[in-house]
Amino acid sequence: MADIIQLLPDNIANQIAAGEVIQRPASAVKELLENAVDAGATHIQLIVNDAGKALVQVIDNGKGMSETDARMSFERHATSKIKVIDDLFHIKTMGFRGEALASIAAVAQVELKTRRAEDELGTYIEIENSAVKKQEPCAAAIGTSISMKNVFFNVPARRNFLKSNPAETRHIVDEFIRVALSFPNIFFSLTSNGQQVFHLEAGTLKQRVTQILGNQYAAKLVNIKEETDYMNIYGFVGKPDTARKTRGEQYFFVNNRFIRSAYLNHAVMSAFDEMIAKDSFPMYVLFIDLDPSQIDINVHPTKQEIKFEDEKIIYAFVQAAVKHALAQFSIAPSLDFSL
Ligand code: ADP
Ligand code: MG
Repeated sequence: MADIIQLLPDNIANQIAAGEVIQRPASAVKELLENAVDAGATHIQLIVNDAGKALVQVIDNGKGMSETDARMSFERHATSKIKVIDDLFHIKTMGFRGEALASIAAVAQVELKTRRAEDELGTYIEIENSAVKKQEPCAAAIGTSISMKNVFFNVPARRNFLKSNPAETRHIVDEFIRVALSFPNIFFSLTSNGQQVFHLEAGTLKQRVTQILGNQYAAKLVNIKEETDYMNIYGFVGKPDTARKTRGEQYFFVNNRFIRSAYLNHAVMSAFDEMIAKDSFPMYVLFIDLDPSQIDINVHPTKQEIKFEDEKIIYAFVQAAVKHALAQFSIAPSLDFSL
């Protein structure tokens, strides 16, 4: 009998890997926006058509790519962000796994246009099924534009699994908001089917929160700010009277990365304690900064789950910081929550 094991061809391997990274148009939105942030852009435009099913395009004014890097960026495990294993424990960029563009190129038609300041001409590349269809020099603005067209055109099972346009658009807006909240110093816009949905001028976090969540919060934000040698927390929680019956605007960022954590959510909720009704939810936008070596963000390809070296310290810190800021609203005799 002949041997039967073979290595998968690249396009199949990429398509399998893509399943974890690109689940829906919104996954591409997250990855492309993060790449633009990592490229040092100060101006980032997101354009979607047909809830991202027909088009997700991100245009940035970041540092752009050389001709060789433009081609390389679509290879799997191709990244400029880590070089040695130790870098994994000091991640300061949003990306580092080098699989987003490879995944997108495996499940969609991609067009890339990019130029660095030092190059007179930029590079234009078209890719489909992980294969380059066209590559040529082109005139281009400084920065990068990447378009993902007809996502899952070659994976009908996935295409059919996509939800209705309103549902997919909601996912896109969620991802857009998470990135826009974490980088208030960057201009962001979102255009959907030719209609401008967001136009967010660069500003302070308070301005960004108000731009996104609405003016009704402007006078209702309680400032959170505590610093220790181990970690810092800053941001806002809504005054207790803004708590609502539906779990609405609750955002946690660790080192500027949006994360989901039932544990940290509980820390905030417990700080509100008696100030809000049992079944209602306060609004919050909180940022924790700590040494990257204290966390592991490489738990899942989407990087929305993280492991903390010491979860309990962080819980106590978040709870104390929020309690401290809310003390003015408490009817209970005030305790000393200082850290
Ligand atoms: P990662 O972000 O994990 O490195 P990606 O697949 O998202 O992996 O991107 C691969 C590489 O392509 C990046 O490391 C970066 O060097 C380059 N790149 C991607 N998007 C951009 C962009 N908008 N501007 C400049 N370079 C980019
Ligand atoms: Mg990336």
